[in-house]
Amino acid sequence: METKTRSLFENWGLQNTDRPVVIAGPCSAESEEQVLDIAKQLKDQNIEIYRAGIWKPRTRPNSFEGVGSVGLDWLKLVKQEYGLKITTEVANVKHVYEALKAGVDILWIGARTTVNPFAIQEIADALKGVDIPVLVKNPINPDVDLWQGAIERIAGAGIDKIGAIHRGFSSFDKSKYRNIPKWELPIELRRRMPEIPMICDPSHISGRRDLIEAVSQKSLDLNYDGLMIETHNNPDEAWSDAKQQVSPSQLKEILSNLVLRNVNSKDPALLHDLEELRGQIDAYDKELFKILEERMKVAVKIGEYKKAHNITVLQPERWQEILNKTIEEGKAHDLSSEFVTKLFTAIHQESINKQTKLMRK
Ligand code: PEP
Ligand code: MN
Repeated sequence: METKTRSLFENWGLQNTDRPVVIAGPCSAESEEQVLDIAKQLKDQNIEIYRAGIWKPRTRPNSFEGVGSVGLDWLKLVKQEYGLKITTEVANVKHVYEALKAGVDILWIGARTTVNPFAIQEIADALKGVDIPVLVKNPINPDVDLWQGAIERIAGAGIDKIGAIHRGFSSFDKSKYRNIPKWELPIELRRRMPEIPMICDPSHISGRRDLIEAVSQKSLDLNYDGLMIETHNNPDEAWSDAKQQVSPSQLKEILSNLVLRNVNSKDPALLHDLEELRGQIDAYDKELFKILEERMKVAVKIGEYKKAHNITVLQPERWQEILNKTIEEGKAHDLSSEFVTKLFTAIHQESINKQTKLMRK
């Protein structure tokens, strides 16, 4: 059974590093009673890391902007009375100093801070010589470089316990999610930085509590290492993010419903079957390449014809016709129109590139 998280969690001082490591607690600390009541209920579930926002980055002023430094005293009590590790969001140097002074165990950097290299660099500079884990949320815009850059800046300060939090991306388009997940971005970050543990924040992706379980499950099926789930003792009355917070008992139910699948199996029969199937995939990929090569040769021939007769490379009606036809054809082959559109846009673009190159010759 390969249920362990990537080894990095092992020197974070946790008792239990089984996948997924769970971070739970309210969106915002509201009062000493609220903070401690939630902590007690989470402690009973063997949750080890407690989150609560003290300084809240709100989109518009006049919403609740967090209780501020006084909340750090409540988090200290969580640590003293229940032995939980505490984590809070830091967005500037003052937050860093106050959090460190209060003995916060893990810092996290919010999505609105990750977008800003100046802010990240200042935080990184303030952390030089400090040994503390830092979790970096994805930037609100879908930009892997910005996310990677923020992690590199923190690593550049000598921090060697860094995790990434996937909380979804802001979009003008309507979606059932508050922040669309765009799973391909965290997958790409992990390809580039395989040593960085990946934590899913299904609360901010979902924006509503009924989606949290499905998003969490998907993240585990993508081999994420941990979950950060906003948990409140009275979710509907929460001062921030009420719709997406769950009660401790709902959290318990969600966690117990999750299915943990292994990354790899050691069962020789299964491995043999998988290898066989992967061989089939590789063979089809080879064929795809052959077909694409032949298709491109035809595109080049057409390009020569266009050049000889002084016709433009792009013919918008022809492209629209291809797209309509392939989307229809895709349906007959059980391929989504989204996939077919992406695939043929890329193929078409490559043909155009080849034809334009020819025009320049
Ligand atoms: C939060 O975790 O409460 C928060 C403000 O998150 P984000 O930075 O992902 O919006
Ligand atoms: Mn929140």
